[in-house]
Amino acid sequence: MSSLINNYMNFNKWLLNDVYLESSLQGLYQSAVDAFPRTTKRQHAIDPIKIENLRFVPYLGVKTLFIKGLAQNETKKYNPMILFKNVTYYEEATAGAVRIESEGRRYFLDRLSMDDNHIVIRCNCPDFHWRFNFYNHLNKSLYGSKRTRYENQGGPPANPMEKEGMCKHAMKMIKILSEIGIIS
Ligand SMILES: [Zn+2]
Repeated sequence: MSSLINNYMNFNKWLLNDVYLESSLQGLYQSAVDAFPRTTKRQHAIDPIKIENLRFVPYLGVKTLFIKGLAQNETKKYNPMILFKNVTYYEEATAGAVRIESEGRRYFLDRLSMDDNHIVIRCNCPDFHWRFNFYNHLNKSLYGSKRTRYENQGGPPANPMEKEGMCKHAMKMIKILSEIGIIS
């Protein structure tokens, strides 16, 4: 019980501390493109990825919506996730609102925006973990805990321009969310 209360308090504290957010989904996408100008992967490699599952977890009290995907690429499975803050929910179907379902219940909310800065993002794939996690943390656009700071192990830097961004799994999930009308 006390750990539940602690988690809840930490969650609220974290929400309050991260008022000044720097990046939108559009900004993180563009930053990832700019950070690796010669790559043939990431934004060029989202077609084979299938989003097998999308889970919506609305928190009406704190006006957030957590979206977790299951992204499958051949035999690999990862979980891109985005937390949207400042979400406007409605009690019933309203003109202009979009509908989601969670645990068998319907929720109505204003369509989410690619240009809204009130987001944090994460994926458990190596690309996000090694290249973006730390810089998204600095940019206040990281969902959850940050990895330990980069230690130079003699190899080339994983993210030489030190830019925040997102992996191909998040890019594909956002594309699907756009196609179903949740994000514009
Ligand atoms: Zn990923």
